[in-house]
Amino acid sequence: MTHTNTHGGDVDAIVIGAGFGGLYQVKKLRDDLGLKVQAYDDAPGVGGTWHWNRYPGALSDTPSHVYRYAFDKELLQESTWETTYLTQPEILTYLNRFADKHDLRRSFQFETRVTAAHFDEATNLWTVTTNKGDTVKAKYIVCGLGLLSAINTPDIKGIGNFKGELIHTGQWPEGVDLQGKRIGVIGTGSTGQQVITATAPLAEHLTVFQRTPQYNVPVGNRPQSAEEIAEIKKNYDAIWDQVFNSGVAFGFEESTIPAMSVSEEERDRIFQDAWDEGGGFRFMFGTFCDIATDEAANKAAQKFITTKIKQIVKDPKTAELLTPTDLYAKRPLCGHNYFEVYNRDNVSLINVKQNPIDEITETGIRLADGTECELDILILATGFDAVEGNYMKIDFRGRGGVTLAERWKDGPDGYLGVSETGFPNLFMILGPNGPFTNLPPSIETQVEWISDAIKYTEDNGIAAFDPKPEAEEEWLETCRTIAGMTLFPKAESWIFGANVPGKKNAVRFYLGGLINYRAVLKEVADSGYASFEQTRISVAAE
Ligand code: FAD
Ligand code: NAP
Repeated sequence: MTHTNTHGGDVDAIVIGAGFGGLYQVKKLRDDLGLKVQAYDDAPGVGGTWHWNRYPGALSDTPSHVYRYAFDKELLQESTWETTYLTQPEILTYLNRFADKHDLRRSFQFETRVTAAHFDEATNLWTVTTNKGDTVKAKYIVCGLGLLSAINTPDIKGIGNFKGELIHTGQWPEGVDLQGKRIGVIGTGSTGQQVITATAPLAEHLTVFQRTPQYNVPVGNRPQSAEEIAEIKKNYDAIWDQVFNSGVAFGFEESTIPAMSVSEEERDRIFQDAWDEGGGFRFMFGTFCDIATDEAANKAAQKFITTKIKQIVKDPKTAELLTPTDLYAKRPLCGHNYFEVYNRDNVSLINVKQNPIDEITETGIRLADGTECELDILILATGFDAVEGNYMKIDFRGRGGVTLAERWKDGPDGYLGVSETGFPNLFMILGPNGPFTNLPPSIETQVEWISDAIKYTEDNGIAAFDPKPEAEEEWLETCRTIAGMTLFPKAESWIFGANVPGKKNAVRFYLGGLINYRAVLKEVADSGYASFEQTRISVAAE
């Protein structure tokens, strides 16, 4: 297909983001559909998540062989890795290689933040504005803004007064020297646990400020031999087939056995095998089919993990502080010797629920009981304004000048995680109410579906394309119903927006699994996109 750019815009499509999503989207639209594409990223280079999160210990917890693009068979065969999980530098190298191979950088303007996007109903074009003063008109926008990308900086009194180094893990600068420093870490989620484990051996003293303890199982990162990797490469078609036809898409067989259908001994044996093998998603979804849906099954998993904590952590008081008491129903964590860290003499744990942070001072942290913790470096591992965070930073205006912020004031809508009623020709990769999985396969699924939808609109002379309100409402109801069948809404985490003060608690994911999600996308495409408004304006194109 060759590019025509008959829409009257400066370009056909604008892509925002140079992570897994944006990179592949540029390739699809530019090289496969032949559209004229302008892409932006705020960062100075490609990588998205893996550009920004350079904190020590940053590691993907998706197995190495399936944390990559499935479609690029050549790259699958050419790439290699050392261990069962990939470190941040390895993933960044992989994405740079992908960008080089497909010559993607020439379509990007880096260090450029998109600040506004307004839809003009008369021309069916978007006008996009950037912080560098660009104003560009395009028919399509595809957002690959990331769902764990807009950082969450806590509003703690005095945070601006700290005279040492204050660093959020999601904006980790180059050249931070942690050796021999007095380091504080606020936050004990996936990121906190990784950065704590990596920092403890370097610090003179590490103080961990924990609000809510979390369940953690071993990641099980181990060297992978050339023979094992060759075997994987030989079997890649079957491996990806299994991944795309599974629920969480992590590359392991998901269990179909209810936890209470086996004896306690058998249950513990299965948990122990998963503990030894490693992997958070494997522990939650590979052991039994109902850990995330049945309270008794969930309790059994909780008991297994909390017993391990007591066995690992030598000081009983510290062990108790590290022991979660809520449901095991957040994004499952895994790490390398996380609980063991607290046996070190140079690590102390502070429960900031009991003894809250009163103020960040020039020299450290003062707690409510008056304790002063002197610090050289304070690390905020306080997570993200997840899912819609980056969308809310762009002044999106759709039909009738309605802003996305208004549309989403009660929590983000989003049809199929890729589109929004009233915002024609605007597509989202990992937008609200998309699947909750190992993300590259979901990203790939969405990028390909979006590309097919754009091709359809091009081929059929459609000037404006957005979901019908009733289709979106039905999808949201489906997402709510499925979420309600799980225990996830009962645990407070970013998945439902509970981590950011003032954020609406709402369903933000389709928890029905990638296989079912793909079936829904296919059904919509096969119906001729019947759930979408399709405005045909005969003169709009010429
Ligand atoms: P991102 O990689 O987040 O890229 C979004 C890009 O958009 C960013 O570069 C950002 O600068 C840019 N951007 C945003 N707004 C604008 C704007 N207005 N203008 C210009 N540019 C903008 N997922 C897994 O499946 N497995 C894992 O093991 C895993 N580990 C993770 C570890 C960490 C530390 C984090 C933070 C996330 C992890 N994730 C993991 C989720 C991860 O975000 C996804 O796997 C994937 O990398 C997302 O890719 P993306 O392209 O959708 O978004
Ligand atoms: P997170 O899960 O939201 O954890 C944030 C942590 O900061 C929590 O412990 C939270 O405590 C704490 N916190 C936030 N505000 C605070 C405050 N004002 N005072 C004290 N504590 C505060 O964020 P994350 O750890 O960055 O992880 C987000 C997601 O990124 C993960 O779930 C995962 O999807 C992805 N990730 C994956 C990996 C990986 O292993 N592959 C690594 C890193 C990130 P509360 O729990 O009390 O709110």
